[in-house]
Amino acid sequence: PIFTFGSINMDLVARVPKLPKPGETLTGYSFSTVPGGKGANQAVAVAKLGGSSQMVGRVGDDAFGQELLASLKAAGVQSDRIFIDRSTSSGVAMIAVNDQSENHIIVIAGANGNVDQSDLDRLMLTDSSILLLQLEIPFEIVQTAARSAKAIGATVILDPAPAPAVFPDELYGAIDIITPNATETEQLVGFPIQTQADAERAAEILQQRGTKTVIIKMGAQGVYCATEDDRFFMPVFPVVAIDTVAAGDAFNAGLAVALAEGHPMREAVRWGAASGALSTTKSGAQSSLSDRATLDDFLRK
Ligand code: ADP
Repeated sequence: PIFTFGSINMDLVARVPKLPKPGETLTGYSFSTVPGGKGANQAVAVAKLGGSSQMVGRVGDDAFGQELLASLKAAGVQSDRIFIDRSTSSGVAMIAVNDQSENHIIVIAGANGNVDQSDLDRLMLTDSSILLLQLEIPFEIVQTAARSAKAIGATVILDPAPAPAVFPDELYGAIDIITPNATETEQLVGFPIQTQADAERAAEILQQRGTKTVIIKMGAQGVYCATEDDRFFMPVFPVVAIDTVAAGDAFNAGLAVALAEGHPMREAVRWGAASGALSTTKSGAQSSLSDRATLDDFLRK
């Protein structure tokens, strides 16, 4: 199966005419709660694409935690190894979006911030497993997870998001595939990624640090991929994008499902790009993820 070890959040989204100033009370238009967190998004995306998806992480002992567990289950994610942490709240992101689509976001890690070795111990990897990692749980435990998965012979795919302040060079060797977007790549290599040539140079640097496969997600431009024996740029699938939230998560899920089914890297990147493109045609995080029939249809066109 495809395992995800990562964050589970509830997004609390308020639509407002303008963002409030300190001390200001204003009346918003509407409010919604939407399951999110990069880990949960990727686990749900895998399940929807027909992959066998198992998630390990934590929620708090509150109503959001129960709702998050139920939504993972409803999406087909095996979630019986998710721990309910009685010491804290579920992870939340409090988001205000104004008429200009600008936002204020407050992220509270909550239970995600407590994920530790005891959670990692519930992750039952084998040499045929794929492990999806992101950076919304403590960095040290992500490092430990990558190293132990690598030792078992599992395939480790790291989405270095949100962009890390420091990223030790020794960690690259424990990652099989790293999938930064342009901003995260800049944080890792120290120069901006605007062109294909920038991506090529960045990928070479990351490969030299020890990760064999580097996939740079360049938003509406496309994807650059470098493996040990191949390198290519893939333009985006043309779609009318309305909301790019969780596009990167959808990409990683498409990539993982294709690899789990034995497809070569070029095809897996194509599945990732298709899954990412489809997610931009719908709004929200987990609400924007497509099912397998939609992906298959899209890939046939
Ligand atoms: P992230 O969401 O991690 O910031 P990107 O914005 O690069 O990552 O999006 C991930 C992937 O989703 C892209 O590499 C691409 O395949 C697809 N994608 C994103 N934006 C668009 C778009 N406007 N049109 C088509 N595909 C897109």
